[in-house]
Amino acid sequence: MALGHFNVADLVLLKAVVAAAVEVRVPVMVGASEGERDFFGTYELAAVVEAMRAEQDVPIFLNADHTHSLAKAVEAARAGFDAVVIDFSALPFDQNVAHTKETVEAVKAINPAILAEGEIGHIGTGSEIHESVSNEFRNLTTPEEARQFVDSTAIDVLAPAVGNMHGMLESMVDGKTKKHLNIERIGQIKKTVGIFLTLHGGSGTDDEDFLRAIAAGINIIHINTELRVAWRRSLERSLASQPNEVVPYKILPPVVESVKQVVSSRLKLFNGQLKSDEMHVATGR
Ligand SMILES: [Zn+2]
Repeated sequence: MALGHFNVADLVLLKAVVAAAVEVRVPVMVGASEGERDFFGTYELAAVVEAMRAEQDVPIFLNADHTHSLAKAVEAARAGFDAVVIDFSALPFDQNVAHTKETVEAVKAINPAILAEGEIGHIGTGSEIHESVSNEFRNLTTPEEARQFVDSTAIDVLAPAVGNMHGMLESMVDGKTKKHLNIERIGQIKKTVGIFLTLHGGSGTDDEDFLRAIAAGINIIHINTELRVAWRRSLERSLASQPNEVVPYKILPPVVESVKQVVSSRLKLFNGQLKSDEMHVATGR
């Protein structure tokens, strides 16, 4: 099994993610990137998640996704986040190492139990709909650079580039095409570094590839764009079906329900609760 990580930018998405975890009865990781934290509020998100933990009986972890500066990482650690993705992957390798190491030390000084994740290789930036795939996605993380990076930064979790990418292509939104992963490379990296591995950019990935990736050593899987697509489509449907409605708590519950269904089907798959005949039905929207 792998821990499902789902990004939230507002309370609708957060409610949906937590409701899905409660329904499937598995732990979940709530994630918020710098942009999502700016919109929700870093301390506000931590406080709402803390309130939800008190009410629910499933573990809810909170991750500061894709953090590009020491200051933002420190802020998340102070706010009580359980994990932080330290992302200097756009920098040359040596600078990525130096900034990541410094940031790991800073967040561990605030909370020694915080999980520090580092990233090498190119997996793109935006969890949105892209027109084409950049050629850079062909540059996979090598086991050797993974080992060097892990050894010199003291990270707890590594995010490698193994055929994954952030966002989805138009053809993936309706399930016409799927992302495929380099399972062999995942296995080689796992064998070499022996620490937790996160798969970023999971939206639109083939179900069988997810299962093989988990078997090869992936521990955490990030899904964002699939939630955003469900959020937008269901919001449009809800608004269109009640054109004169202005009451938010009448417009938004169908949106929570639609996003929750996406999260539930992913959680079931990641936790080995989906039968093979359900797989394409659940995700082939
Ligand atoms: Zn990511």
